[in-house]
Amino acid sequence: MIKQMVRCDYCEEEFEIFPLEKQHKKGVVETYFVCPHCNHHYTSFVTDEKIRTMQQRAKRMFESLGVIGTTRSIDEYDATWKELKVFREEIRNRIRTLKEEVINEGEMESDGSKESK
Ligand SMILES: [Zn+2]
Repeated sequence: MIKQMVRCDYCEEEFEIFPLEKQHKKGVVETYFVCPHCNHHYTSFVTDEKIRTMQQRAKRMFESLGVIGTTRSIDEYDATWKELKVFREEIRNRIRTLKEEVINEGEMESDGSKESK
């Protein structure tokens, strides 16, 4: 695994990202990391059951693209590719919405952990 150093937006110290997973309710899984200096919680991404199913489907669609001229005509290939692009965009939007939800929820949970200032 590659070491990934980042600078914390809050305390400006550098640290190495160590991704952790948290299970939320309704099958929501959050991947996050924490700044070891100020304990700021960074949410990387969030998936739920539906998103994971959609990601599986996108993967299958990608694999089914086949090869132009042999298994697929160019038109057919283009159509699948366009469909896949739209579908991936849908997944991204869903992840974004879910991430916002989880972050907002986390802020409500945190009981005065913003003691740095
Ligand atoms: Zn920090």
